[in-house]
Amino acid sequence: MTASFPDAQFAAAELADAGTKPISREAACRLLRAGDDVLPSLLSAAQLARARFKPGVITYSRKVFLPLTNLCRDYCGYCTFRRDPGEPGAHTMTPDEVMEVVRAGERMGCTEALFSLGDKPELVFPQMRDILRRFGYKSTLHYLEAMCEKVLRESSLLPHPNPGLMSAEWLERLSRVAPSLGLMLETTSARLLAKNAAHDNAPDKVPAKRLRVIEDAGRRKIPFTTGILIGIGETPDERVDSLLAIRDLHERYGHIQEVIVQNFRAKPVTLMARWPEPGRKEMLRTLAVARLLMPGMNIQAPPNLSDPHYADLLEGGINDWGGVSPLTPDFINPEKPWPQLDDLRLRTEAKGFELRQRLPVYPEFAEQAAAHSDLLAERLRSSVDAAGYARRAA
Ligand code: SF4
Repeated sequence: MTASFPDAQFAAAELADAGTKPISREAACRLLRAGDDVLPSLLSAAQLARARFKPGVITYSRKVFLPLTNLCRDYCGYCTFRRDPGEPGAHTMTPDEVMEVVRAGERMGCTEALFSLGDKPELVFPQMRDILRRFGYKSTLHYLEAMCEKVLRESSLLPHPNPGLMSAEWLERLSRVAPSLGLMLETTSARLLAKNAAHDNAPDKVPAKRLRVIEDAGRRKIPFTTGILIGIGETPDERVDSLLAIRDLHERYGHIQEVIVQNFRAKPVTLMARWPEPGRKEMLRTLAVARLLMPGMNIQAPPNLSDPHYADLLEGGINDWGGVSPLTPDFINPEKPWPQLDDLRLRTEAKGFELRQRLPVYPEFAEQAAAHSDLLAERLRSSVDAAGYARRAA
């Protein structure tokens, strides 16, 4: 694709002071649609903004991935993680299984226990209600809360739960046993709930409901991870609006610790198996626009979804690689292994950055997290180094 001359002219004018103040919605939409000849100046502007607001250091979180349950009441068109009860691979981890992985992670210098799970499976599956009853819990969220507390009390890891939609009460409860919580916004496009679209048959992906959770977390000053999933049928303008919705909530409440830009990958046997994946340039363009819309925020892109050229993502202005595990697979994208940590370090350094291991809560949000419980405050004190990064960093 090549840009028309007006696009190049427009981009030059818009990018002139992009490193100092956020670009406008109109500029973001046009830059996302602009042609390849605008890409180098767009990337340079994003790198300039990163150099100004997040200089020199790229972070990652060394984690274990705990798929607490892969039973889920939603059926997203791209998901291979979810299962119905009785399907091959359907599984809910026992407390012993959780702690076995956590112990192994401790031995490998991990500092994050990422709990990723299906959304409220007990509402539709009596089998999940039986499992929870056997374990002694009323709901998946009660079980998750207990496991977070167990990890917090009995290990050196810090939990980061990703349980789907939560009420304000549950946000509050989980914030006492985890220094940060997560919920991907994915998109603000309600069009994707339509028949045969990505979120058809996914009641928990209604954008307004997800925005409500992120806002409720903001009201309670809970350090929060969210982000967008690109390439699932949204238009470029809708992609910009999703980023702006996140930015607006952060401007109001100051609690979004990181914004993930995740690229859709097509998986066999899903409804979207033949859906086109966003290419390298589209990903870079989106990252750069995200950086320029929110120059002072932490922007993350997962390296395993852009392998083998993941180091190029740094050109889009990101400053974080997200969770990377030396132990457990990415259960959401099991066909995409995480890079070896040595490789991540080498490639990050080759681009001129220092790689630092952070906790599941970013240094600038640790104080906010510690305010939620004495237990968290104590655990955070013993987990951070002087700069707020992971003390156990190897
Ligand atoms: S993406 Fe999440 S909510 Fe959607 S089906 Fe998979 S596990 Fe369920």
